[in-house]
Amino acid sequence: MRTVSLKRTPLIRRRALICCLACCVTVLWAPAGAAQGGRLEIEYTVKVADIPGQLFHVTTDIRNIKQPALELSLPAWSPGWYVIENYAKNISRFRVTEPGGRQLRPALARKQTWRIDTRGISRITVEFDYRANVLAAHQARIAPDFAFFTGTQLFLLPEGHRSRPSVVRLDVPSGWRVASGLDETADPTVFTAPDYDTLVDQPTLMGQFDVTRFMVEGKPHDLVANPAGVFSAEKTSTLIGHLTKLAETQGRIFGGLPYRKFVYFYFFRPAEAGATVLEHQNTYVALARAEAQPDDMVAQASHEFFHVWNVKRIRPVQMWPYDYARENETPLLWVSEGFTNYYAALARYRAGLRDGRSFVDEVARAIAEVEGNEARRYISAADASTSTWIGYNNPPPFSISYYTQGRNLAALLDLSIRHDTRGASGLDDVMRTLFTDFYQRGRGFSTEDLIRVINRITRSSYEDFFRRYVSGTDVPPYETIFGYAGYQVERSTRKFPNLGANLNEMGRVTSVPPGSDAGAARLQPGDLILSIDGQTLEGQGGGAVFRLLNEKSGQNIRLRIRRGGEERELAIAVGSVELVNYRIVDAKSPTPEQLKIRESWLKR
Ligand SMILES: [Zn+2]
Repeated sequence: MRTVSLKRTPLIRRRALICCLACCVTVLWAPAGAAQGGRLEIEYTVKVADIPGQLFHVTTDIRNIKQPALELSLPAWSPGWYVIENYAKNISRFRVTEPGGRQLRPALARKQTWRIDTRGISRITVEFDYRANVLAAHQARIAPDFAFFTGTQLFLLPEGHRSRPSVVRLDVPSGWRVASGLDETADPTVFTAPDYDTLVDQPTLMGQFDVTRFMVEGKPHDLVANPAGVFSAEKTSTLIGHLTKLAETQGRIFGGLPYRKFVYFYFFRPAEAGATVLEHQNTYVALARAEAQPDDMVAQASHEFFHVWNVKRIRPVQMWPYDYARENETPLLWVSEGFTNYYAALARYRAGLRDGRSFVDEVARAIAEVEGNEARRYISAADASTSTWIGYNNPPPFSISYYTQGRNLAALLDLSIRHDTRGASGLDDVMRTLFTDFYQRGRGFSTEDLIRVINRITRSSYEDFFRRYVSGTDVPPYETIFGYAGYQVERSTRKFPNLGANLNEMGRVTSVPPGSDAGAARLQPGDLILSIDGQTLEGQGGGAVFRLLNEKSGQNIRLRIRRGGEERELAIAVGSVELVNYRIVDAKSPTPEQLKIRESWLKR
C-alpha cells in the first residue's frame, strides 16, 4: 500500500494514497526449464560498490545450465506499487562471461530481457552496475550511511526457472549491519530464498540503523529504524506495543501468523519519490517523518500488516502468478486494498486502540467520500481497480479510489452477511475461506469465486449485489443495510469554499478537475498559496487555507502564490461547492435481532 494521507480538499477528494502488495509463495507450477532437464543453481552477490556514485555491483552466477539459450529478465515493476518503473533503466555495464573469462554477447529479447546463447556452456556469470539514487519504498538508494534495495530491482530471473531456490551474498562496507526479509544463514551476510517470487519480494537494508526484536506468537519481529538514534526508546516501546496488538488481533482472524519472521522497515527520512509505504509477504517498508508519534503510525501499520494475508497471500487470480514484465490488470483491487482499509480500521478497534464510535464514524466517512464524488456515477469499483495502472502515482482528476469504494463495500458486505446468518458469520469468514480455499491451495481468486464463497456462507445469492454495486454504479441501500444493525444513516450537506481546484491542507493545488474554472487566473497543479488578501498562511497550521477561504466565500480575493520558483499574485473569485456528509447513528428503538447483529459486528 501506499499509506493513508488523507487530504481534505474543496471538492471532497480525500484520496487515500495507500500502498500495496507483492509476491507470494508460488511454487506450484512446473518451470519450463525443468522439462529441459535444467536444475539451475543461482547465486547473487550484491556489493555496495560505490557510495558517492550510488552504485550497486550485482553479480549473478548461474551454474548447471543445460539448455541452448537462456533468457534473463528483470522485473519492470514491484508488486503492490502499480506503476511500470522499468528498473532496467538503472543498469549499466551489463556483461556476461563464461568460466574461461570469454565474454558472451547477450541480445535484448525484450526491454528488460537479455537472451544468451548457452550452447555448450554450463555456467555463466552476469555482472552489472545498478544506480540506486531514489529513497522510496519501491526504489533503491545508496547513501553515506545506508544502502537499501528490494529484489525486484536487482535480481534477474532465469526464465523458466522461477521455482528454483537461490543464495544472496551481500558485500558491505565494514561496520555496516544488515536487515532483510530473506532467510538468514549462519553467515550474517548470506541469505537464501526458496524461489524467485520470494526472492524479489524481499527488501534489504544495510548500514547504520536501530533494530529492536520482539516476539509475537513465538515468532521474531524486528522493528528496524533508520537513521540510528532518531526514533527514541520510549517511542519504540509504545509502537511495539501497538504492533503486537495488531499482529495478534489480525492473526486471530486467520488462525495464526503465516510467516517465520516479520521485519518492519521504517525510514524516518523524507521520501524522494511517491511510494512512502509498500507491503511484502513478511515485511513492509514505510517512510515517516522524523517526529512521527507511535499513535499516528498505527492506522498505516494496521493496513500494511493486513496485507500479510490480503494481497500477499489472498490474491486476485489475474496476479497469480505475477507477470513482472508488464501491467497486471485486475478488477479486484477494491478487495485487495479496500477490504484491507476496512480491516485496518476494524483491527484497531478490536485491538483496543480506538473506541467503537470512532470506528463507526470512519465507516460513515467512507460513505461520504464515495457518495460525494461525481465519478462514482461513472466508474465502478471493479473498473477503478482495472484502471489503476493509468494513474496509481497521480490519479486522473476524474477518478474514484477503489481503496474507499472497497472499504465502503466491505462494511456493507460484512453487515449483510451478519444479517443473512443472524450474526453467526461475517466478512471474517469470507477472508478465512479465501485464505484456506485459495491461497493454501496455491491459487488466486476471481470475482466469481468471491461471490460463490459469500453465497455458500450466507446460503443466499449475492450476484445481484455484485452486479449493481461492484461492477455497476448503483447507490447501495445504506439505510437498509445499516438498519440490519439498528442504525440510521443521516445525510447532510454544507457549503465549502472552492477555487476551482483541489487543495491540500497546506494550500498546495493537488489537481484541477476537468470542467472547473478558476477564472481568468486559473490555478495550476503544484501552485502553493502563500497568502489570501494579505493574510499569510505560513505558521498557521494545516487547514488554515480552508478557514480563510470560508470567510471570503462569494468574494473576489487576491491570492499570492508560488508557481515554480516564482511568486505571483492572482485575482480570483471564491465560489462554493456542496459537501455531503453522512453519520451513522443509533435507531430510536432497535429490535433485539438488530442489536444482536450490531453486537456481532462490534465484538472484540
Ligand atoms: Zn495497501
